[in-house]
Amino acid sequence: MKLALISLLLLLCILTVAAMALEKPFVDKSACVGCKDCAGICPTAAISLESEKASIDPEICIDCKLCIQACPFKAIKDIK
Ligand code: SF4
Ligand code: SF4
Repeated sequence: MKLALISLLLLLCILTVAAMALEKPFVDKSACVGCKDCAGICPTAAISLESEKASIDPEICIDCKLCIQACPFKAIKDIK
């Protein structure tokens, strides 16, 4: 019984973390021109460039949304 309860709690924790990661802003790669404005303003250095396109690490992102405002091409979207 205890094991089942612990397993359930563990599953809930995993699902919560996954949901939080999914709610973070994401980059529309087709709109990104690789100007790095977003990376320059990110307070946690969560944005890096991969193949000249911005990429957000959801584990480092604190969801402050500064990058959304900073992108001159509206390439960063918020799914909420
Ligand atoms: S500011 Fe916008 S266009 Fe520039 S690198 Fe970031 S996502 Fe791409
Ligand atoms: S929302 Fe904030 S912390 Fe997350 S990538 Fe954008 S600027 Fe960085």
